[in-house]
Amino acid sequence: MNCFENLTRHDTRSKLHLFMVKSDRSIIMIYLDHAATAPMPPKVLEVFIATLESQWENASSSYHLGRKAHAVLDKAREEIARILHANPEEIYFTSGGTEGDNWAIQGVLQEDASNQKLIISSIEHPAVMEPCKSLLKKEIIIDTLPVNSLGRVSPSFVQSQIDTSTRLVSVMMANNEIGTIEPIQEIADKIHGLTLFHTDAVQTVGQIPIDLSRLNVDILSASAHKFGGPKGIGFQYIRNGARLHSLMFGGGQERSLRPGTENVAAAAAMSAALQLAVDNLQEKMRYISELRDQLQEMITVKNPDILVNGDIHSRLPGNLHLSIPSIRSTYLLYKLDQYGIAASAGSACSSGIIRNSHVMQAIGRSNSMASLRLSLGIENTYEEIESAATVINKILETRKEKII
Ligand code: PLP
Repeated sequence: MNCFENLTRHDTRSKLHLFMVKSDRSIIMIYLDHAATAPMPPKVLEVFIATLESQWENASSSYHLGRKAHAVLDKAREEIARILHANPEEIYFTSGGTEGDNWAIQGVLQEDASNQKLIISSIEHPAVMEPCKSLLKKEIIIDTLPVNSLGRVSPSFVQSQIDTSTRLVSVMMANNEIGTIEPIQEIADKIHGLTLFHTDAVQTVGQIPIDLSRLNVDILSASAHKFGGPKGIGFQYIRNGARLHSLMFGGGQERSLRPGTENVAAAAAMSAALQLAVDNLQEKMRYISELRDQLQEMITVKNPDILVNGDIHSRLPGNLHLSIPSIRSTYLLYKLDQYGIAASAGSACSSGIIRNSHVMQAIGRSNSMASLRLSLGIENTYEEIESAATVINKILETRKEKII
């Protein structure tokens, strides 16, 4: 049983509805891929549908129904700001993490961008890495910060890399593969006033406490679907006084910085999801990390050759990332899927193709080992963890017979 059943209201029926492929109802899915996307709790779905039905008018229209829709949008903005200890005018709605990261990277550059410098960590998500790569053509200097074997960035090293040409430092709050939580507060304190500081908080918003009134971060990107909200919406926090120019041109929505007709229902659902995620957050973190630790133990005791990645003292509560010798990630994930377990290799994949991970490379792990990321959420139960461990151990036993 899950001790938060009453909070998430994930009864078996809704779970099956959310996770089972309709044509194959014999497979009971154990969902261990929350870092990829989290299920939407029924309460959030209710808000989403109700707002879609009742506030479908254009929030920028001047008639009263438009103003009503705008009030819902404002309320969502206020709620998000309240939860994160920010000001409502510092919150801008976006389409999610990819847009937020792209915006931060490209929005800080001035007209004549050549010789301006951006500093990023070597384990950033492709949503940060790829826009940086595209800027190399414009003679922008990209400095990539090393991480230690736990995936941690050194705050003093970040500080030592800043010079007068530096426009932005971007270090993610927690890594999406290995779960390491970066020393954001320390980095922010060291570089405050020297340059702008962006953090990709896609894996942390709604997962760990964040207080923007204490964190010297200038720009923060978040994505609703990682904390139980809908896909295709997120938000960008831009501290009052920090300047980010718009990447899009159109109407005057979001104070002309992010034009486009507002997605009122998704914004309302995102704010409801965030509120639900942070309710009893400490207890949820304890529950999820206990499950994760049990899973880790059940697997590593039977397989002592497995390496656990990330910083076990500063790791996302639900993250367990393993490097496993003598097996391939594709085979392992295929077998897990056959047994009804949804997991991932961790590295960004599209069309189901697993690429070599730049994160594994950065922490000095061989890409010849299989990567397995098991990411847990609040609706997971001890029984599920036990079943998943049994299945994983059973699959891994076959390694002794032959190298797969
Ligand atoms: N940044 C990180 C750390 C992520 O994990 C992800 C998604 O996996 C993204 C950015 C992209 O977010 P979105 O899916 O909302 O575009």
